[in-house]
Amino acid sequence: MIRDPEQFAQLLQEVRTFVRTECQPLEAQVDKEDEIPEALVQRMREVGLFGHSIPEEYGGSGLTSEELSLVNIEVSQVATAFRARFGGATGIASESLVVDGTPEQKRQYLPRLASGELTGCFALTEPEAGSDATAQKATAVKDGDDYLINGQKVFITNAPISDLFTVFARTDPEGKGANGITAFLVERGTPGLSTPPAYRKMGQHGSPVGEVLLENVRVHKSAIIGGQEGQGFRTAMKALNKQRINLAGLCIGPAIRLVEEMVKRARSRQQFGQPIANFQLVQQMIAESNTEVHAARALLMETARKRDNGEDVTMEASMCKLFASETAGRVADRAVQVWGGGGYVADNVAELFYRDVRLFRLYEGTSQIHLTNIARRTMSRVAA
Ligand SMILES: Cc1cc2nc3c(=O)[nH]c(=O)nc-3n(C[C@H](O)[C@H](O)[C@H](O)COP(=O)(O)OP(=O)(O)OC[C@H]3O[C@@H](n4cnc5c(N)ncnc54)[C@H](O)[C@@H]3O)c2cc1C
Repeated sequence: MIRDPEQFAQLLQEVRTFVRTECQPLEAQVDKEDEIPEALVQRMREVGLFGHSIPEEYGGSGLTSEELSLVNIEVSQVATAFRARFGGATGIASESLVVDGTPEQKRQYLPRLASGELTGCFALTEPEAGSDATAQKATAVKDGDDYLINGQKVFITNAPISDLFTVFARTDPEGKGANGITAFLVERGTPGLSTPPAYRKMGQHGSPVGEVLLENVRVHKSAIIGGQEGQGFRTAMKALNKQRINLAGLCIGPAIRLVEEMVKRARSRQQFGQPIANFQLVQQMIAESNTEVHAARALLMETARKRDNGEDVTMEASMCKLFASETAGRVADRAVQVWGGGGYVADNVAELFYRDVRLFRLYEGTSQIHLTNIARRTMSRVAA
């Protein structure tokens, strides 16, 4: 649903201009230096990028799913690290609070996440709890009005630079699977919480990802998201369900950019006395890529509109994430092919995006996990 088409078109144009004129020129620098310059982060705050999915009453712009999907397609037409800098605030790092936070928790944190004053992260994955996120080993033991949290979280986007951590831990040691998991809000500076330096990664340089170590971290019971023990896994799933739709947009943006770049490269590169764009086998790579981009976008927009209408899109969200992330991978692979040997050598957009988009098929549910979800839900809809 687009609430005010004229106003939204203006917002989209502003985002597009920012991405193309201020972010794209810094892509190579950010990839090399593994850091987004603070001056650009400040510009992201001014453009309002941190607040897109946070409700207006808490200082954000409260975009609908359809609006957010269109914005996500724009913000991701630059190396992924740029979007990841504010992506927590418009995705999983704030969504748990948005969907299940108490009014007091929302008042305390959402305006500062929306303005970009605070950076947040979502700390669910553990060494033994990846695809099976219900296998949480982190514990939170009640001690009077407090809880003592112990555990290790791995692969957490923005952990090294976060001010606010959404931490999932088991409050009921007897609770099996999803039961007995509780979500806590833990602020940086709380004794016992530490974040080692970021990992070295294949791609997405400039987006710090690391561990969160929790050793006897004492938090008051008011830090439980929603104030109720044992609801954490349901909260996580609500946040991830929306995030899958977001992520589909974030896969389509790079694929659109790559189609454009493939065309430019194919026109400018000459072989056999003519631009390689004249060769039909090169055109095939461009045509297949653009067709898949259109299919992914159509699926995403239909799903986003259904979500705005209040329909249950759990299965469709999985389809969007699966199809868009696999599309981004195939398009990036073809882009390297269109570049030829130059596509394998560093310092061009094909090589950079090829490394960046590889992650999309792994996090927020691997492709295999989404396939199993889709199969289960599809089979449950067909009468025996
Ligand atoms: C850069 C990066 C950023 C991340 N950011 C975050 C974050 O901010 N917060 C967070 O909580 N997590 C984050 N993650 C973690 C991410 O969500 C997990 O890596 C992902 O869920 C997969 O878990 P795993 O790595 O343990 O792989 P595993 O679960 O060990 O999977 C290994 C392989 O087995 C397959 N497999 C597993 N189970 C099944 C099954 N039932 N059926 C078929 N195949 C199966 C998988 O598909 C995969 O191919 C991030 C990861 C990375 C790499």
